[in-house]
Amino acid sequence: MAMGGHGVATYTAFAALRTPFSAYYSSTLSRILGPALRPPLAFAVSSRPAIPSVFVMSASTSSDADIAVDIASNIASVRQRMGDAVAANDRPPGSVRLVAVSKTKPLEFLQAAYENGQRYFGENYAQELMTKASELPDDVSWHFIGPLQSNKAAPLVKAVGLNKLACIETVSTVKLAEKLNRAVETMNKDVEEKKKLGIYIQVNTSGEESKSGVSPGCEVADLVKKISEECSWLSIDGLMTIGAPGDDSCFDILRLCRDEVASILDRDPNDLELSMGMSGDFEVAIAKGATSVRVGSTIFGDRDYSNNPK
Ligand SMILES: *Cc1c(COP(=O)(O)O)cnc(C)c1O
Repeated sequence: MAMGGHGVATYTAFAALRTPFSAYYSSTLSRILGPALRPPLAFAVSSRPAIPSVFVMSASTSSDADIAVDIASNIASVRQRMGDAVAANDRPPGSVRLVAVSKTKPLEFLQAAYENGQRYFGENYAQELMTKASELPDDVSWHFIGPLQSNKAAPLVKAVGLNKLACIETVSTVKLAEKLNRAVETMNKDVEEKKKLGIYIQVNTSGEESKSGVSPGCEVADLVKKISEECSWLSIDGLMTIGAPGDDSCFDILRLCRDEVASILDRDPNDLELSMGMSGDFEVAIAKGATSVRVGSTIFGDRDYSNNPK
């Protein structure tokens, strides 16, 4: 969808979306952020007339700090930096996807990103993804990037649907894969055009106990074999890792795992995604072969978990 030349109309359309949002906002977000942090919202149309910017000022908390987030310029800057990293590493232009990680952020932030051409969003909590997916336009592709309890698999697939739920990036157990597979099978029962659900295998490349994911090596191989044999409604589209901050070797490890998975599945390694790199290291990840980066705070501002630490 072209982004130019429809600023005012689209702005009005999005302003209208604020009504259903307010119910969501007070229930879900005050649960996440805590009522004390619920900021008064204000829209401001920036000097560029076609693209609205969202500025959110924080409520006066004890720190009394005002937070203003200019999502349009943050996204432009991340895209620029991604493009520079792609060019510097002689990779084809447009070969890296930006997944905007919007967990805990209000719907208006996502809408501002959408207005600036963003179509891939990453969320960590099933309920939050479901609510946001029902409010944003249907051409958004949602990536689930948090730990997914297997009892949330079916509700998530059912609520968001296979057209909008692009990928579960955090599959690291057969149990979760089977639950997802069954949910997708059920979804496809009475429809003509059957669709698979994309998944990534999450790999714990840093060896830290606190991180989810299968270990590189035979754990990855075993999981991939099981899923490819038993879960015909899942499409293994790539691998994902979080890695340890400052440890680039995590990205090399994921790449090696990708090559191994490709040989197990008899696929071209370049057809498998590498989801790695976040705000602090997405340029390094691109240099190491990332095809999908997950960037949150650099686009949407810092997250505040102080009332509900996760
Ligand atoms: C929150 C999160 C991100 C984004 O982190 P930032 O540092 O804010 O860019 C990326 N990936 C995963 C899995 C996350 O949970």
